Amino acid sequence: MALVVQKYGGTSVGDAERIRAVAEHVARTVRGGDQVVVVVSAMGKSTDDLLRLADEVSSVKPKRELDMLLTAGERISMSLVSMALAGQGLKTASFTGSQAGIITDTDHTRAKILEMRPERIEEALRDGYTPVVAGFQGVSTDRDITTLGRGGSDVTAVALAAALKADVCEIYTDVTGVYSADPRVVPQARRLAKISFDEMMEMAATGGRVLMLRSVEFARRHGVPLHVRSSFTWEPGTWVVEEEVSMEEAVVSAVTDDTSEAKITVANVPDRPGLAARLFRELADKGINLDMIVQNTSEHGTTDISFTVEKGDAEAARLACEGVRELLEIGEITADLGIGRVTLVGAGMKSNAGITAKMFETLASHDINIEMISTSSIRISTIIRGERVVEAVRALHTAFGLDA
Ligand code: ADP
Ligand code: ASP
Ligand code: MG
Repeated sequence: MALVVQKYGGTSVGDAERIRAVAEHVARTVRGGDQVVVVVSAMGKSTDDLLRLADEVSSVKPKRELDMLLTAGERISMSLVSMALAGQGLKTASFTGSQAGIITDTDHTRAKILEMRPERIEEALRDGYTPVVAGFQGVSTDRDITTLGRGGSDVTAVALAAALKADVCEIYTDVTGVYSADPRVVPQARRLAKISFDEMMEMAATGGRVLMLRSVEFARRHGVPLHVRSSFTWEPGTWVVEEEVSMEEAVVSAVTDDTSEAKITVANVPDRPGLAARLFRELADKGINLDMIVQNTSEHGTTDISFTVEKGDAEAARLACEGVRELLEIGEITADLGIGRVTLVGAGMKSNAGITAKMFETLASHDINIEMISTSSIRISTIIRGERVVEAVRALHTAFGLDA
């Protein structure tokens, strides 16, 4: 008998029919002799709908209240899924994140899990129940309701799988696994039978939104086997595994795209020790997360610094820089919302020269200008114009032999 955590994303529980299909699958698994803990996202696009509603109501949206609002989405789906399971003849009960013992810090709208105390879930399992847990939510050390960041139900599922020592965490979604590129962007993308944690983390960090980055980090740290698969076809999907890629495998495994970020440029930063530190301290204190950072070589004693942030943080980042402009004697500050990022990911890159040159040549052959570059040992990211991203991803996917 295995213990399986099954997480169902928004589309997988998008309407009554989908919820019944999910319940049938859970019931099949339970009748097959396994124990299942179900984790659900809010139905369909309901989290976006709630955010829109909040926008209509007020321009002032305290984060505590946003969290209260958004967690309602997962409450609806958890109770409906639990009812559907009861309809299948299972003993079942639904639990909020708080009831499931998910204790977080107090950073509303992107809280981090500090501790798992899933006693009620363990008890339910012992009593023969199939528990259904609301994804994406927890309770803070201040006893307020928190959310774990967009896509956070993945984190709930992995954290529960780790705490309960589950045999596998299955992430059910609307595609049949992890592909060599977003199948909605590149129709010729291929499903990967397995992918390493390293590669999956780079993909998740650069736009491959099929798994939330923090869930992959968490799974690796706690050794949770992850299986990404479809709730529409139920066929085996992609295993995320801890392993070195063998020599014969592709040098480049996947191409990702991301148009969710903006670029902030701070011009004429005096070239003195401590200035960049002061600038980035200001951004950190405002709670702004930075992604890529590039500093040009200094000419005439000043330099330009560019960095990328979530589009939603662009204005706050610009204002933070503006706040220390006079103090630091820096020049003009601009926010560019029109950028996009394309990234090559592949564990085989470490030992292969010429990948960067081929990537840049491919972009050049499409007359696509590169604005920023950042690399790790298994990734190359370039910032280009946002409207060229789809063309760039398709061209790179073909150039690196990934087309099905
Ligand atoms: P869920 O609601 O199930 O969590 P998400 O929308 O968060 O689903 O993630 C699934 C989506 O991720 C797919 O519909 C697909 O468009 C997108 N996606 C992006 N990159 C990839 C990739 N490399 N492989 C598979 N899906 C990807
Ligand atoms: N419902 C939340 C969101 O849309 C969490 C999730 O789906 O994982 O971001
Ligand atoms: Mg998701």
